Amino acid sequence: MTATARTFETGVARGRAVLADPPEHWSYSTLKDIAVCPLRYCLEHANYPDLWSGYGYPSLPSLASLFGNVVHGALEAILKALANAGVASPRTAEASEVLVTLGGLRAVVEDETARQLVPLETNPRLSADRKRRLQRQLRERTHDARAQVQTYLSRTRFVRGAPRAAVAPTGQRHTSKGDRRALAAGSHAEVRLVADSLRLHGRVDLLTIEDARVEIVDFKTGAESPSHADQLHLYALLWNADDKSNPGHLRATTLTAAYRDHEVSVDVPGRSEFAGLAAKLKAEINHASQEAGSDSPSANPSADTCNGCSVRHLCPAYWESVAPAKSSSPDDDWFDLEAVIGEKNGQRSWWLLDGDGRQQMLLRAATMEPGFKVGDRVRLLGLRPESDPEVPSPIGSMVVTTEVFVLESST
Ligand code: SF4
Repeated sequence: MTATARTFETGVARGRAVLADPPEHWSYSTLKDIAVCPLRYCLEHANYPDLWSGYGYPSLPSLASLFGNVVHGALEAILKALANAGVASPRTAEASEVLVTLGGLRAVVEDETARQLVPLETNPRLSADRKRRLQRQLRERTHDARAQVQTYLSRTRFVRGAPRAAVAPTGQRHTSKGDRRALAAGSHAEVRLVADSLRLHGRVDLLTIEDARVEIVDFKTGAESPSHADQLHLYALLWNADDKSNPGHLRATTLTAAYRDHEVSVDVPGRSEFAGLAAKLKAEINHASQEAGSDSPSANPSADTCNGCSVRHLCPAYWESVAPAKSSSPDDDWFDLEAVIGEKNGQRSWWLLDGDGRQQMLLRAATMEPGFKVGDRVRLLGLRPESDPEVPSPIGSMVVTTEVFVLESST
């Protein structure tokens, strides 16, 4: 018998969301996301069969996030190759030989850049112009990414281990769910840890075992944040509880957040703190699973929570409470607006009408075909406020990042 699909009607054309089942295991980031706003998590992880066959709602990647992924991905690929070869340090001649077999540092960075750009091709949310811009800007930063990877490598502490399996080709690097095994002495990169009893998993960037000492390192490409310590505590808990990777139940002894130019040591929790953390996570996971399995996940609308939410155009709560307040403020750098497209005012400008058909704003576009027609009810994301002494009404300008979503009821 097939279970009935849980759908969420967003009101946006081609935006019918088929909600996904709760995950078997939760991670640090998924728990954090669903705690901020359960509806956002559910909309981001739902399927949209009327829009595309990809997973989740198409994201809107920024150059900064893509660049961070390139640095992180290239670093992971190299560390994994070095760990599998059992080298003593990333700064030895044998490490250089491993790097040569990968094609050199620049080739690894270029491969990772190409890998990050692949999903952009089929992303229905990105205009051709925006795709081209991101591709060009990311490729222009190859040298910078290479320098950053080199800096991280120059400071990474390694311990020689027995040589392991050969390096997987680019794009197939992530450890599959089935090949987890007891970890021996040495350094291990990209280690998936699982605590089945807690329904929790995570992927550790670098885990080093030396005698009775176990160091967990998480590489961070952004700025310092208190949440990084929380994440390392969760990894330590996972390591302590993972019977497959850690059958001898060695305890994590050192936790390190590694930034581009410095490291931060994080205190290792004691036994009672771990017990408290496990109990807290258990409660969070129960709550998260209930929300993720619900027909109507809770929304947490507020200016702070919704600012930058990538699925806010699909969220009824946002359009009822947050968007109207923002669009009425002349001090904001940008605003979102739901309105009906009224008659044309010029070649590239239209009147926007309120619910009673009154002109409420003049909309200026960069093109003559901005993706709507007269009479459409639309949600416009990321309009710039403008003023013009010759126009007595407020003005909203569409820029390259502005998105237009037509509502279902408009035809
Ligand atoms: S817009 Fe706000 S309330 Fe709606 S899903 Fe996003 S974060 Fe949640």
